[in-house]
Amino acid sequence: MSHTPTPTATDHVTRAEARVLDAIDEDALVDTLVTMIQIPSVTGTDAESYIQSWQARHLAEIGFDVDYWKLDLDSLAAHPDFPGTEAPRMEGYGVVGVLGSTELPALILQGHIDVVPTGDLNNWEDHNPWSGIIKNNAVHGRGACDMKAGVAANLAVARALVDSGVKLERPFAVHSVISEEDGGLGAFATMLRGHIGEAAVITEPTSGKVVVANAGSLTFELRVHGLATHGSTRLAGQSAFEKFLPIYAAIVDLERVRNVHRDPLFKGNPMPCPISIGIIRAGDWVSSVPDLLVAEGRLGVLLDEELSAARSAFEQTVANACKQDPWLNDHPVTVTWQGGIFASGRIDLAHPLVQEITDAIRTVENRNVSLGAAPHGSDLRLYAGIGGIPTLHYGPGDVRLAHGPREQVDIIELIRTTRSLALLAARRCGAYL
Ligand SMILES: [Zn+2]
Repeated sequence: MSHTPTPTATDHVTRAEARVLDAIDEDALVDTLVTMIQIPSVTGTDAESYIQSWQARHLAEIGFDVDYWKLDLDSLAAHPDFPGTEAPRMEGYGVVGVLGSTELPALILQGHIDVVPTGDLNNWEDHNPWSGIIKNNAVHGRGACDMKAGVAANLAVARALVDSGVKLERPFAVHSVISEEDGGLGAFATMLRGHIGEAAVITEPTSGKVVVANAGSLTFELRVHGLATHGSTRLAGQSAFEKFLPIYAAIVDLERVRNVHRDPLFKGNPMPCPISIGIIRAGDWVSSVPDLLVAEGRLGVLLDEELSAARSAFEQTVANACKQDPWLNDHPVTVTWQGGIFASGRIDLAHPLVQEITDAIRTVENRNVSLGAAPHGSDLRLYAGIGGIPTLHYGPGDVRLAHGPREQVDIIELIRTTRSLALLAARRCGAYL
């Protein structure tokens, strides 16, 4: 005699919910992803605007009420909470689609359509990061996992809610935003426009986890001054490069200290709060001693840490290191802050959305999902902070492949995750026949 486990209340799928799951068009999901990868929407480029118009059209065709608007970049930049940008941008657009009445949406699925640059083309499948080629049951290309797979999932859920023929007790919304990669201007503008909701899921890649908190990050620039002379008489000068070395050692030590006490949500992450230098420029002539070194990097912001506290910890470290060196004491290194400003953010674990997404994953994917935190900033802090919307991340893709060469997303995982999101949407928005 075989034992069939008794389904719990949350494992039960109503007829309306089953209809929604059945209505997910898996081929269209993959096709949508491929089409989006073929639009090279690097943050700040014209293609970023183009893909937003494509999103707006797509949602309108499905039958959503769409707000497609041009961002007022000047007034956004003048706002006291402006999140900063890194890429020059001439224009930008917002896209919000809503299905259902004019009440507050019960659920928002959000995704960003901008991607980071490709890096060395030799590292890509067929030297083409924009092919969207399918190999080994995975879709390849820049943005495949961060996060056009998530955006495709959001659209597939939207389409399934309509195609299933169910009615919704409460509205459902899809948000498509720009500029997540360089600060979050799109999410910021969407919140200021008043597109809030009761709860939001950002479908960033989460490697199978539910991400309930984000560390943040700040972008710094260090200017180390030296004294130029001919390389043959270098002892008569001061190399800005050599003077950077003790500063760098102090930064590495600060990084170690800031990662000693880790929030339990970062279990398994040996360094949730890194300080990483991404760009270094020094000197302008091979046989001259460099008189200036400019280093730009990102400072990780701890969960719940004030941005001002993070900045001052870093500035103090640099200032203290300067005091140890006679030249640097007289010519202190300057620290400035520019680019994206990512505060940390989190959802209250007692909010029903946490249990609801966990239940949906258990029902659809037949597994218990673990909760975690992401070491990088995201739009979560803008939705939670400015919008006051309880927000978490759950989406397809292995986050370790984001921003790297050979970025890809597994098709089975994409479909599975989309189904969990669809069940969540059907339940939260009260789908009925
Ligand atoms: Zn992303």
